[in-house]
Amino acid sequence: MYPRLVYHAEALAENVQRVASRCSREGITLWGVTKGVCAQPEIARIMVRNGCRALMDSRMRNLRALKAQDLGVPLWLLRIPMSSEIPEIVEHADGAVISMAESVHLLHQACAQRRHPFEVMLMVDIGDLREGIWPDEVDALAEAFSACPRVRCIGVGANWGCYGGVLPTEENEKKLLSVGRLLEGRLGQPLTYFSGGNSSALSLLENGGLPSRINHLRVGEAILLGTDVTNMRSFPWLRQDTMEFQAEIVELRRKPSVPLGKRGADAFGNVPEFEDRGYRLRAIVALGRQDVRPEGLTPLDPRMTILGASSDHMILDVEDADPLKVGEVLSFRPDYGAMLQGATSAYVEKCVLEEPSEL
Ligand SMILES: *Cc1c(COP(=O)(O)O)cnc(C)c1O
Repeated sequence: MYPRLVYHAEALAENVQRVASRCSREGITLWGVTKGVCAQPEIARIMVRNGCRALMDSRMRNLRALKAQDLGVPLWLLRIPMSSEIPEIVEHADGAVISMAESVHLLHQACAQRRHPFEVMLMVDIGDLREGIWPDEVDALAEAFSACPRVRCIGVGANWGCYGGVLPTEENEKKLLSVGRLLEGRLGQPLTYFSGGNSSALSLLENGGLPSRINHLRVGEAILLGTDVTNMRSFPWLRQDTMEFQAEIVELRRKPSVPLGKRGADAFGNVPEFEDRGYRLRAIVALGRQDVRPEGLTPLDPRMTILGASSDHMILDVEDADPLKVGEVLSFRPDYGAMLQGATSAYVEKCVLEEPSEL
């Protein structure tokens, strides 16, 4: 069935092992982030088997599915909680990241029946301007934790490159550490984790720029794609052949490269521009914006280029490629956005291949 998103188990397992061993050499606990693949069960298992000590996902629906798999590791909610989902979080998650005192109070109330405190990690905003307390709010949060003993803060975490594109640096990580130390002082007890960021923070590991007290990372992209979109690079020590989109050719025809007649906007309101390259062989594959973000796809055959896409059709220039036939399947490497949308689309078949040769 096409279109489909094919995951390569072996490449993914290798990436988890390589990230995990690099982390453990530096005394860093690795938690795997599954949201990019909607907590795909086999991939979650690969993460756990190869060195992730816990799994994190931004959706309770995904965490519930992970819980049913009985993976034997803690499952954490990675998005700061909606107040309306707090009862569900307490029932199904082992912990959550938070940034608001209100969440601490609500979690405390919801935990009245629990025997163990509910664990949270306090997010600190070091400038990326997505979630996190401002560093001068430590006292207010410490007060909330003191008033809510059924909630236990086990660490602080910072995030990079998600909204502001702010890069993790040694200096930024030190700011997180100082906020964490301040919180330890106010709470009168040590924190277990200083969580230095996501995949982008692995770049700091490579050049020794990660302060030694940073002892925790939350990694998705580097494992799933071998890339670091924030630093705009691929990790040379990780594999990028972890997954591919596959779509079937439904039309193959030589056509002019510039549309004929008077032109308005395309189906999405954009006014496209065209370069006249004469008649070119074009392939239409049955894949579109309902399945994927086409801008995030790269054809595996470098002689092909994606010309554009509407909801259900993607058009490629295949003039310079080997001869093709209708019904043939073309493959594409996704970036993070394309992976996320493909994993989310109900129209995209997902399949996990154990061996590369199964293709
Ligand atoms: C998504 C997310 C991560 C993982 O990011 P990657 O770039 O996929 O490694 C880590 N922390 C938070 C808070 C996130 O939202």
